[in-house]
Amino acid sequence: MVGQFALWFGYVLNWFAFRRNRYCFIRFFFPVGYKIIHNNRIILFFAYFYIRLAFLSGLMLRLPMLKYLLFDLDNTLYSCRCGLEDNVARRMREFAGALLGLTPQEAWRQRMAAVQQYGTCLEWLMGDKGFTDVETYLAAVHPPDEADSLLPDRELRAFLSGISLPMAILTNSPREHADLVLGKLGLGDIFTHVFDIRQCSFMGKPRKEVFDNALRVLGVCAPEVLFIDDNPRYTQGFIALGGNALLFDENNIHTNYASHKIRELRELTKYI
Ligand SMILES: [Mg+2]
Repeated sequence: MVGQFALWFGYVLNWFAFRRNRYCFIRFFFPVGYKIIHNNRIILFFAYFYIRLAFLSGLMLRLPMLKYLLFDLDNTLYSCRCGLEDNVARRMREFAGALLGLTPQEAWRQRMAAVQQYGTCLEWLMGDKGFTDVETYLAAVHPPDEADSLLPDRELRAFLSGISLPMAILTNSPREHADLVLGKLGLGDIFTHVFDIRQCSFMGKPRKEVFDNALRVLGVCAPEVLFIDDNPRYTQGFIALGGNALLFDENNIHTNYASHKIRELRELTKYI
């Protein structure tokens, strides 16, 4: 009787541990303990084992709970298959090519050669090419009709509305683009904040300053946030700051990605 009570106490403790620490692996031990419930000695051992793991997994270590979800916008809140972001990238190549007197392909080759130093095309043009006419660039890359292919996503709205954690957007696009896309998707009122490319003097993810600014405004620290983005450089950038991140890999193209990833936003429920 005492053994069974201890075992169930261990189960419950570990369930809470799992809820608080999504990387906890204790769940896998549940069926093992359950099958040998008739042997009191083994039950006591497993009860001790579960309780120890609960301590180790963070329940008693006061690991911070998640307080915010931070979403990327493009190719994360809508499918990459709609082509919106491809068209944005094409306009970036064309703008950079025209600015530098190069073909769009050559301009992009140069931009990608500097991708580790400059997270966005705009940062590269400003930092490496002396470009200053930022608003002209943003207007050319984000024309008013750029999101015409998007339709309201009622399923996503219902899913996000059911999440109890507050949510914000962190995008490398300008605010007007974010407002346009969120309006088209019918998600305009879901997010508490939209952090755009203007928030940090046109610096973008994965710069530390950009993440730090969002965390400061939200009033949370990195371990209290789960960041979801389709770009592995950005998710790894946030993980490097001590945050939690999920790569949204809709088509499973990042097969060597070493950290956690999802292929549907609904999979978020496993992590929050
Ligand atoms: Mg994206």
